[in-house]
Amino acid sequence: MTNSTISIGARQFCVNAETSARFWRRVNKTDGCWLWTGSTAGRGYGHICIDHRYEGAHRVSYALAVGPVPAGLFVCHHCDTPACVRPDHLFLGTASENALDREKKQRHPHSKEPFYPHITQANRASIYAARAAGMRLRDVAVRYGVTPHFVATLAPGLPRATPRPRRLLSEADISTIRHAFSAGRLSSSLRRFS
Ligand SMILES: [Zn+2]
Repeated sequence: MTNSTISIGARQFCVNAETSARFWRRVNKTDGCWLWTGSTAGRGYGHICIDHRYEGAHRVSYALAVGPVPAGLFVCHHCDTPACVRPDHLFLGTASENALDREKKQRHPHSKEPFYPHITQANRASIYAARAAGMRLRDVAVRYGVTPHFVATLAPGLPRATPRPRRLLSEADISTIRHAFSAGRLSSSLRRFS
């Protein structure tokens, strides 16, 4: 297996095909963000042990897919999702750019929404439709790689969870129940229809 080196900050990591397969196995690629499913180091940032050292998963992703992370630079998220390791959602920034960027996204004067460049108008409509169809807030958030709070701001007023709709009994169902009743098996038969 051929080895190669990736550089993250001042460190050089020895990697091979197995390292990168092990990395990408822990990534859930949604329509939006690619979310790290391995262990996290706090504040939602993933981390992974490679070459006997721990590194941030988003930094490893950048180094594997894009190129070296120069010492002193941060790997920042366009999407504001710490667990995201999708290479095109990542960019290099200085400490002050990183802080400015975070501030701009969190305190944008005209919007309370976090900034998600991968969420298009069509995605917004799908998010609303998914919620209106009764999909759970958390499930919608995972599918589109956004926070549950963001989903709630796009589809306000919808309940957090919609109960499963009850289906109407058909003629066949009614006759099954009648038959079970006369045979003395009513409770086991009704379980199917609850
Ligand atoms: Zn992302």
